[in-house]
Amino acid sequence: MYYPVQRSSRMLNSPLLSRINILLPILFFAQMVCGIHDIWAAESLDKPAHVTKSVEKITLDGIEYEIPPPWAGHQIQVQPFSFSDFGRIPFSYTVNDSKIYVLVSTHSPLLKMLRAANEQGIRLQVSSGYRSIAYQRSIFKRMISEGRTFDDIIRYVAPPGYSEHMLGIAVDFYPSNWRFASSEQYLWLTEHASDFGFRETYHKSNEMKMPWEAWHWSLIRETEKSLRE
Ligand SMILES: [Zn+2]
Repeated sequence: MYYPVQRSSRMLNSPLLSRINILLPILFFAQMVCGIHDIWAAESLDKPAHVTKSVEKITLDGIEYEIPPPWAGHQIQVQPFSFSDFGRIPFSYTVNDSKIYVLVSTHSPLLKMLRAANEQGIRLQVSSGYRSIAYQRSIFKRMISEGRTFDDIIRYVAPPGYSEHMLGIAVDFYPSNWRFASSEQYLWLTEHASDFGFRETYHKSNEMKMPWEAWHWSLIRETEKSLRE
């Protein structure tokens, strides 16, 4: 019994072991610090997303308005268009014979869909199509001048820069309100619109958590892209 102890004490006293004995705590401490440092690093990598999250704002008549969820993060970038990029929807398919335009690439599948519905006795009437960011701004300015608050308006109107209408691929059908969801037109669209490349962008349980807009349909962007190519 004595021997191992002696060997052990001799080992402890050996220059190599005493060096390890000194090094181990240092290594352990260093690892701990590095480990903690890694946690800090991981946190600091995560932090910019929360801390530096830029607040999205728009300015109307010199007044800045903060864009809250669900719109925040869904700003739409769009290339400038020229008039020749658009096709007018025939008056027979628009409300009150309004001049409503959509992109040429949307125009053709939209007309096919409108005709198909018509042939099946479903009268689809378009109440809105392409809307420029300037037009969207004018809607807001008018509503604000009428005494509405910005927060109230964005409950059902996309802020300028956030509307799918500025892409020229979306249309609103008449009536553009909650009644549309219980119409035969809506039922027909839910069954057939996808055959023509259209979808209900803000459906009842949409991923973006936007308010349900049963009347708002758009050409699926992939369809639009493949039509352009
Ligand atoms: Zn719409």
